[in-house]
Amino acid sequence: KFISFEGIDGAGKSTHIGFVADYLASRGKTVVSSREPGGTGVGEKLRELLLHEKMDLETEALLMFASRREHIAQVIAPGLARGDWVLSDRFTDASFAYQGGGRGLDRAKLEALENWVHPHLQPDLTLLFDVPLEVARTRLDATRTLDKFEREQAAFFAACRNEYLRRAAQFPERIVVVDSTRSIDETRAFLAGVLGKLVA
Ligand code: C5P
Repeated sequence: KFISFEGIDGAGKSTHIGFVADYLASRGKTVVSSREPGGTGVGEKLRELLLHEKMDLETEALLMFASRREHIAQVIAPGLARGDWVLSDRFTDASFAYQGGGRGLDRAKLEALENWVHPHLQPDLTLLFDVPLEVARTRLDATRTLDKFEREQAAFFAACRNEYLRRAAQFPERIVVVDSTRSIDETRAFLAGVLGKLVA
C-alpha cells in the first residue's frame, strides 16, 4: 500500500510519520519511508534547488514532478512491487496545494504533469494534517528556522490550505483529513483507527 502525508508547513505531519511507520511495523508490515521533493539522489539535489533558489513558477512545478518521477521509479514502484508499505512525506497533492493553490499555477497544467508522470498511480490513503494558519505559524516559529517557502505570506498558506481541503472534498475515498489541533496522543489514536481498517 502507498500512503502519502500532506499538510501546510507546521501542520504536524512530520511528527506523525514515525508513529505510522512504527504502527505498521508492529502489525508485521515492511515499511519504506521517504519524502518529496527528495527521496532519491537526484531528488535530494532537486530539493536543494527547490528550497533555496528563486525560480520561475513553471520551472518549480517541472522540477517537483521531475523529483517525483525519479521517486516513483526508484522507490515507490519497486517498494509496491515487493509488497512493502510505502510512506511518502508529500506527493502530488502538494503540487496542487503549493504550486497551484499557493502560487497560482493553472490546475490544468498540474493535471497534465500528473497524467504524464503517474497516470495510473495514486496513494491508497492520503493523511491530510490540517490546522488553522495561526496554529501552524506558532508551531513553525517555535521549532526551527524557516526555509524560503515558509517565510512567505500568511495568504499564501491560506491558499495552500484551501486547495488541500478542496482536494479532500474532491477525493474523499482517498484523502482523510486529520484534525491536527488535537494533542499528539489524540491524533495517534485517530490514526491508529484509520490504519487499523487499512491493515485488516
Ligand atoms: O515537507 P517539507 O516541509 O519538508 O517540504 C519542504 C518545503 O517545500 C515546504 O516548505 C513546502 O512549502 C515546499 N513544497 C512546495 N511544493 C511542493 C512540495 C513542497 O512548495 N510540491
